[in-house]
Amino acid sequence: MTPVGRFAPSPTGPLHFGSLLAALASYLDIRARNGRWLIRIEDLDPPREQPGAADSILHTLEAFGLYWDGPVVYQSQRQALYRAALEQLRRQNDAYACNCSRKQLRLRGVQGYDGHCLKHPPASTDDCAFRVSHPEGEQQFEDRIQGRRQYHWHHHEGDFVVFRRDGLFAYQLAVVVDDAEQGITDILRGSDLIDETPHQLLLQERLGYHTPTYAHIPVIINAAGQKLSKQNLAPAIGTEERQTLLFQALSLLGQQPPTELQSADVETLLHWGVCHWNIARVPAVLTLAQEES
Ligand SMILES: [Zn+2]
Repeated sequence: MTPVGRFAPSPTGPLHFGSLLAALASYLDIRARNGRWLIRIEDLDPPREQPGAADSILHTLEAFGLYWDGPVVYQSQRQALYRAALEQLRRQNDAYACNCSRKQLRLRGVQGYDGHCLKHPPASTDDCAFRVSHPEGEQQFEDRIQGRRQYHWHHHEGDFVVFRRDGLFAYQLAVVVDDAEQGITDILRGSDLIDETPHQLLLQERLGYHTPTYAHIPVIINAAGQKLSKQNLAPAIGTEERQTLLFQALSLLGQQPPTELQSADVETLLHWGVCHWNIARVPAVLTLAQEES
């Protein structure tokens, strides 16, 4: 079976270094096995998006030589697929309507969701969210970088939303549907998403999908102890220093590129990375990025 991987950014801003690291690791992991590498733009939440960000991300990937296979997929154009999956969950009684407002939840003083609408179904499904009921017990999975992970469902936030009251499909549902529809075999992404994995495994099971392998690279922390993310305005990557950044990225991923490659061009660096990729060398925890100081 040909491995199929993907990089799936949200267009909320330009590509920052943490996302580049995830894209590079996924690319190397797939290309090292002659697999297909796809790009999916997760543009499901228009209020959070920035005009032009998707194009800017794609240009940055190209500038780093991270070329993808096939057309870029945009989640905003795939509502019909998500709707069909939601219908399936409803038919199977795996999803139920919920019209609780944030205020009502707050007044009930519940942590997360208390299952109120499962016991008292709303009279109409208009303006309702849909939640998926989670099982008792625990969910386990083997992460190729982080090792064995175990989640107790009762520590979670309760039955989770797959369709929002504002009419948008939730990230969890869209990701699972797309990964299945695109035939993704290997998911490699940032550790900021690791706690979403149990929900995604559960949805795959309920929807009868194949479960891909999971690997989560560590999140990079800057000198101030903040996670590098668009939320704390990690600087966008300028393409002029891309050789240096690519060399740094390979080093941070534990791949130990030889120092003579420090002045190599992007193609040479990527070629070296593909030929020498070893996921066992990727650290589970990333030490502070010294260049931030
Ligand atoms: Zn409710």
